[in-house]
Amino acid sequence: MILNNLNETELRELMSTIGEKPFRGSQIFEYINRHYDYNIDDYELLPKKLRTKINGQFHISSIEILEYLSSELDSTKKLLYKLEDGNIIEGVLLEYKHGFSLCVSTQVGCRMGCVFCASTKGGLVRSLEPYEITSQVYLTEKEFDINISNIILMGSGEPFDNYENTMKALSLLHAEKGKNMSYRNMTISTCGIVDGINRLKEENKPINLAISIHSFDDIERSKILPINRKYNISEVLESARDYADSTGRRVTFEYTVIDGVNNRNSDIELIKNSIRGINSNVNLIALNPIKEYDSKRVTDKSLYRFKSDLERQNVNVTIRRELGSDISASCGQLRREFLATKEGCTDEV
Ligand code: SAH
Repeated sequence: MILNNLNETELRELMSTIGEKPFRGSQIFEYINRHYDYNIDDYELLPKKLRTKINGQFHISSIEILEYLSSELDSTKKLLYKLEDGNIIEGVLLEYKHGFSLCVSTQVGCRMGCVFCASTKGGLVRSLEPYEITSQVYLTEKEFDINISNIILMGSGEPFDNYENTMKALSLLHAEKGKNMSYRNMTISTCGIVDGINRLKEENKPINLAISIHSFDDIERSKILPINRKYNISEVLESARDYADSTGRRVTFEYTVIDGVNNRNSDIELIKNSIRGINSNVNLIALNPIKEYDSKRVTDKSLYRFKSDLERQNVNVTIRRELGSDISASCGQLRREFLATKEGCTDEV
């Protein structure tokens, strides 16, 4: 049993089942999720005998920060985390005026197959456990002695392809006796798994939803995101509308601009008409070319022109500020580069 996968109630029950007082479970929960202390021997509120007993039956798993790169242009850091089984995931720490934000992974690799995303090129290795998700946050706070006020699930993986563990991790981060992070400061980004969006809506939590839409034309979108063949744009839009209506949260449509593909004049009209009546904004991201998808990056000029054309149509639109562009190994590129150089792999990872 991995103790840092458990919430307070489960830890209290676990203590009862081994003949201990339930409050010991609450103490353990706080050591892990508030103090980020994963060493049972340190738990001084617990009698030594109990620590030995717990150590004999259960354990607390950990991940480690393998290395990180710091941007010289801003305070962005790209991190590589090593999991207990040797797998590697990556994260990005961003500093904004309002605090630190961490881009968190939910899977090792990904099976969604989006054409321009480096995280999916080697396929899915496995889903992360709850503790592997929470530990990215705890460990990064400890490493840099900071408070992370926001998390965005935009690292490697598809959160709705690992629904239970992702939600469990978010609830651990939210727990009052733990980090106590508001759901309003958490954003789940999905490639458009409609069942997941609808399920999240039923949770009735004010979690922010971002949908990687990239095109509002079914033929174009299916070329970029294979998932569109399962859930088409009208289904995605309907679930987005329901989500926004029932949570009162504004949904973000992530729109990676691929020059000549999805920033044509016809796209402006399409975007405007597609999102009409949905409490939403469109977040433009300049495509970051990767080896496997070598489209040229859109010029700043065209990007800003596209933005102002959309604004003229009264679309709420933002451009994702590019932080850490000098270390711009984004979206799984860092991990792939690392695996390629350190393990002698070149292509298939
Ligand atoms: N699976 C989730 C979260 C991970 S991807 C999702 O699809 O939303 C995070 C975001 O980065 C997505 O919007 C994705 O489409 C985008 N992205 C991936 N590779 C990119 C690249 N090379 N350039 C620009 N954006 C990219």
